[in-house]
Amino acid sequence: MASFEDFKLNKQLQNAIAEAGYTVPTEIQQKAITPILAGQDVMGIAQTGTGKTAAFVLPMLMKLKYAQGNDPRALIISPTRELAMQIDEHIRLFSTYLDLRTVLLYGGLGPKTQKEQLAKGCDIIVATPGRFLDLYLEGDINTKSLKFLVMDEADKMMDMGFIGKIHRILEVVPRKRQNLLFSATMSELVRKIAGDFLAFPTIIEVTEQATPAQTVTQALYEVPNLKTKLNLLQHLLKDDESFHRIIVFCKTKTVADNVFHYLERKYGQEQVRVIHANKGQNTRINSINAFKEGNIRILVATDVAARGLDVSNVSHVFNFDVPIVIEDYVHRIGRTGRAFNNGDAITFCNPAEKYYIEKIEKLIRQEIPVYTIPEEVFIEKTDFNEKQDIAREIDNQKRKEDPDFKGAFHEKKHIPKANAGTKKPSRGKTTSHKGKPAKFRKK
Ligand code: AMP
Repeated sequence: MASFEDFKLNKQLQNAIAEAGYTVPTEIQQKAITPILAGQDVMGIAQTGTGKTAAFVLPMLMKLKYAQGNDPRALIISPTRELAMQIDEHIRLFSTYLDLRTVLLYGGLGPKTQKEQLAKGCDIIVATPGRFLDLYLEGDINTKSLKFLVMDEADKMMDMGFIGKIHRILEVVPRKRQNLLFSATMSELVRKIAGDFLAFPTIIEVTEQATPAQTVTQALYEVPNLKTKLNLLQHLLKDDESFHRIIVFCKTKTVADNVFHYLERKYGQEQVRVIHANKGQNTRINSINAFKEGNIRILVATDVAARGLDVSNVSHVFNFDVPIVIEDYVHRIGRTGRAFNNGDAITFCNPAEKYYIEKIEKLIRQEIPVYTIPEEVFIEKTDFNEKQDIAREIDNQKRKEDPDFKGAFHEKKHIPKANAGTKKPSRGKTTSHKGKPAKFRKK
């Protein structure tokens, strides 16, 4: 088995690696570090949890070696501030014994402190695309010394509509440089941006496209409505020994706030926090830190807010709602089972969400095992509005698949039947697991 010594990194880095507790390089590290050290452009298809951050941070630090001049020599672009913070943390961790200077740039805060830090001189910039460009255009960043450009989570970057900004950034950096691109999935857009960005890249794919880390155990509960989802969540959380550090993903800020208030009433303020785009930057950072330090047990989050969140030992990820951007499923469940730890990902799915489960299963090329709701959980009746919403959504899905479909809610507005559209789409192949899996069972 390969070891970190094989990479011939300098002593300072080796010490920092040992102190971080890394003993064996992960697959992406084994495959990427050597070509990056050799100066090649690299395209890495790797999801979060595979150790991809260290895979580019370590050789980058090795190449930058020590502080030099005032202008940055490396630029790392991240789609979100949380991911940028995580990358920055990795850099700080591994540069403990190096005197490299890193500046972290993201929006949502006034630029004053960031401008001051830039003015002092730096070697590495970690930035979100918008804030980087703003400060560049204001003359705070000189790009002439950039030799190393990394684009992390390129697929998310494309999903978030950053393509224009990325092209703008590529226009303002020197042509001669080493480029690295990481992405969890390989879409057409990612392929295109890779073509614009990389020169004869070494392509490294550590898992099959969009395969969840093997250390994550997945489970699916088919739950009729929101109130029953809350009952089931509360039931599973009673086992506070195994469910000790949990992220609950919700599709919208409103659902996240509702789930948060519900859990807060049950468990008190000390155990639960919520992060979403409407929370101030400082509140989000505080919540993430409190969660990381183990001071709170449950973090309720939306996808964008949780992107890049690097917390080790997350025991469980709950998909309170099935993600509609199906790639987010892989990202969400990548929060648990990170690098060699085991984790569980539990998804709640109402009748309208089965449509996305089927798409997710195609994407990950796996079936998610279905578990029956434990008897102790009270199954609530679906209230009228929710029933209508679910039926309407199922109609929309059917129409999307078959434009000739005339559902209960089609444009002619005829009065819907109460249960219109709730017919169980046949999963056919699905294995149904009777009762709770052993590991979810209360002792
Ligand atoms: P990443 O995929 O970069 O988000 O990393 C996922 C998690 O795995 C982070 O918490 C890293 O600190 C951790 N990690 C990365 N590489 C290793 C390694 N070789 N040994 C142990 N943990 C690692």
